[in-house]
Amino acid sequence: MNAIRYEPVIGLEIHCQLQTRTKIFCGCSTAFGAPPNSHVCPVCLGLPGALPVLNRQAVDFAIRAALALGCEVQSESIFARKNYFYPDLPKGYQISQYERPLALGGSLTIAAGGGKRVGLTRIHMEEDAGKSLHEGFPDSDRRTYLDYNRSGVPLIEIVSEPDMRSAAEASEFFAKLRDILVWIGVNDGNMEEGSLRCDANVSVRPVGQTAFGVKTEVKNLNSFRYVHKAIEYEVDRQVDLLDGGGRVVQETRLFDSTGGATHSMRSKEEAHDYRYFPEPDLPPLVVDAARIERARAAMPELPEARRARFIAAYGLPEYDAGVLTQSAALAQYYEQVAREAGNPKAASNWVMGELLRTLKERGAEIADVPLAAGALAGLIRLVDSNVLSSSTAKDVFARMYDSGRSADDIVSAEGLAQMDDESALHAIVRDVMTANPDAIAQVRAGKNNAFGFLVGQVMKQSGGKANPKIANQLLKRELDGTP
Ligand code: ADP
Ligand code: ZN
Ligand code: MG
Repeated sequence: MNAIRYEPVIGLEIHCQLQTRTKIFCGCSTAFGAPPNSHVCPVCLGLPGALPVLNRQAVDFAIRAALALGCEVQSESIFARKNYFYPDLPKGYQISQYERPLALGGSLTIAAGGGKRVGLTRIHMEEDAGKSLHEGFPDSDRRTYLDYNRSGVPLIEIVSEPDMRSAAEASEFFAKLRDILVWIGVNDGNMEEGSLRCDANVSVRPVGQTAFGVKTEVKNLNSFRYVHKAIEYEVDRQVDLLDGGGRVVQETRLFDSTGGATHSMRSKEEAHDYRYFPEPDLPPLVVDAARIERARAAMPELPEARRARFIAAYGLPEYDAGVLTQSAALAQYYEQVAREAGNPKAASNWVMGELLRTLKERGAEIADVPLAAGALAGLIRLVDSNVLSSSTAKDVFARMYDSGRSADDIVSAEGLAQMDDESALHAIVRDVMTANPDAIAQVRAGKNNAFGFLVGQVMKQSGGKANPKIANQLLKRELDGTP
């Protein structure tokens, strides 16, 4: 039997919460985790007569995201009512954008698929819905509770073209998108709290066929792993279905992370089911060229540009530049260490090595690092000026990290400075030579490792504090000078 081979086709729709202090159409707080229904007002509860006022900062964040993704910001976009009935949607409609979204086009390049460029279709602004709580109450078997704190939180929805061909490409796309949105400061990246959620549209087609197959949409995936798993499951399910002579039905599905399977939620609604029409309570959103220019000027340097600059300006290897630009906070920390230490490569080694290792051990983020960049720079300067050996420096690092004391402070208080006082070292060198006549004979016989042994003894006797370079020189001099 000649089994048909199938190719997956995937497009993602990503909901990204904008990090404004207040909601998109009212002044209520967007803070996560407040007591239920404590951040609400007539506007976000949809009470009669309440009118929306657009949040300026939300628009600026949306524009910033659009520019960072290479989209074309539209000079005029229109808010629209998307009508559907759901208890967490108090107005009976969601204010979104439909025919005329804020931004069109754009793309994101991923490493998978050989540096594939994934096209973006559009970015539109909308409000989030409230939250239905189906669990956790004594009468949860009979009642659903509603929390409207999230109702009216500003979102952008980023819609990709159906350009991805595997679960790996899709999860990388999502991860990369998250990195950028967090980097430019429009999103907090907190997927557990739902700040970033992904709907995956999946279809399969026989390899070689140009027309797309019928797609299903898996809703609300809130981790890269779930995106990966849900797509893999969905691809397998569709292939099995087609191989068994069945048809894929267009529908909305939910991913159950415990079972790792997707389940049908509802048949897919069509756009006309939503009876979209322009929002009569809001004027068209007009974005003039000056506003776009201001957004461009306020845009932080993007990861790719920063990577290139680290390589060019600091002479860092590509690998280092990649690691150090994993987040804006890390890049900024590194750059301050490099500048203050005056030794970019040493700064990179310390940040990528001891610092990231310690953060990982403690399960901490760079944003919470207790060690100031200037303090780490101080430590590097002590190594560069030969006050500290690199092994002692690592101990000092550990103590600085926990105590917040400066390297200078620890070194002078604990007498850790490297010995490069020649007369003190000289005494040790002589002791070592007297105690090891055999090794000296071996050195004279041309055995290099015997010399290494002697250096080691000097280091040991000095408690690791001897400046190895000076210890070396002194030993050589003594050996040469003694007949
Ligand atoms: P709908 O009208 O069902 O919302 P859209 O055309 O607006 O569909 O596309 C929604 C998302 O689905 C986009 O990310 C798009 O790339 C993706 N998509 C569209 N058609 C397919 C398909 N046949 N297979 C996989 N993804 C698709
Ligand atoms: Zn409100
Ligand atoms: Mg659509």
